[in-house]
Amino acid sequence: LFSGPIHFIKGVVRIDGLPVEPLPEVAFAGRSNVGKSSLLNALTGRKALARTSNTPGRTRELNYFRVGDLLYIVDMPGYGYAKAPKSQVKGWNELIYAYLRGRPQLKRVFLLIDARHGIKNTDKDVLALMDEAAVSYQVVLTKIDKISAGQLKRVQSETAAYLAKHPAAHPDIIATSAQKRLGIDDLRAAIVELIAA
Ligand code: GDP
Repeated sequence: LFSGPIHFIKGVVRIDGLPVEPLPEVAFAGRSNVGKSSLLNALTGRKALARTSNTPGRTRELNYFRVGDLLYIVDMPGYGYAKAPKSQVKGWNELIYAYLRGRPQLKRVFLLIDARHGIKNTDKDVLALMDEAAVSYQVVLTKIDKISAGQLKRVQSETAAYLAKHPAAHPDIIATSAQKRLGIDDLRAAIVELIAA
């Protein structure tokens, strides 16, 4: 899937700018600094992809990448940045909510959670948004190389317990480290399964 070409298509700032081609898509969301760029980089083997998304000015956009003729990967703007002005948070919410509501080809949102911190309050807000929009989502723990096996077990069970109360959440949690390349194949397999379905 990821051995072919991957192209940056566009950064979407308004809901009427979404690509119209009917490809399936998966989106990646998470707090700023969660390791989203690193994970996308490890997933696709493309440094350029992560670089594009972290370019100042592109960080408030839905960044669309096309994987061959099969799939769009949507890099969603990071949230929860402490110094972000309120107006920006509101803008994020409006675009994201409109996107989540009105995008039938969106197969799943992968919600990245730093394994050291677990689900934080801002993540809970985003989870609630996805529950309300009835969008399928799945938690991906990042940076698991930074914690012990025991800590990983604990955050996995705490996260699973939280997700059990959220019907739109996929029960399986994918544990990853971009740095140590752990769990990348699990993430790929989940995506392959989604576009085959
Ligand atoms: P983004 O803001 O979500 O795109 O996060 P980045 O991918 O830019 O990563 C934020 C910071 O976390 C950087 O300093 C990365 O080097 C670090 N980081 C990302 N992934 C990992 C990982 O798997 N393990 C470790 N130890 N650090 C990571």
